[in-house]
Amino acid sequence: MNMPAAKLDLDGIELDKPMFDPKAYRLDAEQAGLIAKARELAQSRFAGRADKWDREATFPMENYKDLHKAGLLGISIPKANGGSGAGYQTYSLAAAEIGRYCGATALTWNMHVCSTLWSGPLADDLDMDAEMRAAHEARRAIHYKRIIDDGAIYSQPFSEGGAAAAGGVAFGTEARPVEGGWVVNGKKIFASLAGFADYYGVLCTEVKEGEKATRRNTLYLALPATSAGISVVGDWDPLGMRGTVSRTLIFKDVFVPHDAALMPRGVYFQAAMRWPHMFLTLSPTYVGLAQAAYDFTIKYLRGEVPGMPPVKRRMYPTKQIAVAQMQIKLEQIKSIWFQAVTEACSNPTKEQVLRAYAAQYSVMEGANELATLAIRTCGGQSMLKSLPLERIYRDSRCGALMLPWTAELCLDRIGREALYEQGEKDE
Ligand SMILES: Cc1cc2nc3c(=O)[nH]c(=O)nc-3n(C[C@H](O)[C@H](O)[C@H](O)COP(=O)(O)OP(=O)(O)OC[C@H]3O[C@@H](n4cnc5c(N)ncnc54)[C@H](O)[C@@H]3O)c2cc1C
Repeated sequence: MNMPAAKLDLDGIELDKPMFDPKAYRLDAEQAGLIAKARELAQSRFAGRADKWDREATFPMENYKDLHKAGLLGISIPKANGGSGAGYQTYSLAAAEIGRYCGATALTWNMHVCSTLWSGPLADDLDMDAEMRAAHEARRAIHYKRIIDDGAIYSQPFSEGGAAAAGGVAFGTEARPVEGGWVVNGKKIFASLAGFADYYGVLCTEVKEGEKATRRNTLYLALPATSAGISVVGDWDPLGMRGTVSRTLIFKDVFVPHDAALMPRGVYFQAAMRWPHMFLTLSPTYVGLAQAAYDFTIKYLRGEVPGMPPVKRRMYPTKQIAVAQMQIKLEQIKSIWFQAVTEACSNPTKEQVLRAYAAQYSVMEGANELATLAIRTCGGQSMLKSLPLERIYRDSRCGALMLPWTAELCLDRIGREALYEQGEKDE
């Protein structure tokens, strides 16, 4: 396998090798270029700043200015709209490279990019009649222009604390149709980028007078953060992913015009039914964290961590065995995940869906298992706050909690869907 020689960036940093070597993983030059851009930016700029966002639990706004300058806020915006046109796989691989250096930046960038990936390439793969598609293309162009020209940041507050974010019932946040648009009322918890996004991409239920709320009527609306009636409440002092600033959002009679729709009526529901890999998009961040835990361990045991005395610990057989276990686990995570993000499509087979759940579970649980092993193996001095490992450990613990595909729900679904065909029941 021919790996590219180590390159130096503008600051003279020796750049890391890609997590997924383009030749070995059969990526084309355009994909490799975009993924390398994300990696180089994250290693040279975001890695050094990650400690600050974590300690202060503040949003990485400086990183977002860099992402805008590098064109990465528009990575999945179609080329016709001025973006880079990255599809699902390319975006996922780029996001994993960012997660390797700053988990909170990668996770929030995911919320932003998914606003464009779901309304862009994913929506292009769904059914719409010509009139609906033309209206959608005209509306999404407004959102894309704001991102490309002004660096607008979008978030995805879906969770409400009930069963809606798991896909069980209709969202409690409601959009009432009025002249020219909708009036939105409701509450979202764990709303990453709260107070920092320019637009909150809210999932809500369109409810007309006298109608019952149903999941089919889910709307995906981008509410300008400055709209009257939006407030950010509660504090934010969590275990990990502290730079995501995932506070609570309250919407009280917020009016939004029709062009706020990121997807036409009925299309989000169609996507959730027919494009389930849309919910695997939280995983790339944690693939990056898994790689980061491994990379750190190798450097640490070789005595090559910057700022640490060059003490080698690699000669102990127990450490070598732990590293072997970590390498095997990392390869397992990367392999199943790469397959799942590569085969993502509309109407996947049952096997592909089960594999997507298995990939999500493997990544979300595996990243933290690797970080745990890394701390045990490297030892006490490795988990001081002056080094990134303890942050990787805390950040990686959060992945398995993300709805709708929490580790628990993945287990539930794999077990049930492997044993029952659709519609099958026991007497
Ligand atoms: C760092 C961080 C950032 C986040 N950012 C966002 C964001 O930007 N946008 C957003 O929408 N959400 C975000 N979330 C929220 C996340 O997706 C979950 O909605 C949230 O963690 C759920 O909270 P809970 O575990 O208290 O939920 P609970 O509803 O109490 O669920 C607890 C657990 O029970 C299980 N469970 C829940 N529902 C069911 C069910 N129907 N059937 C079986 N089991 C079930 C699940 O395993 C779940 O983990 C973020 C979370 C974290 C930790």
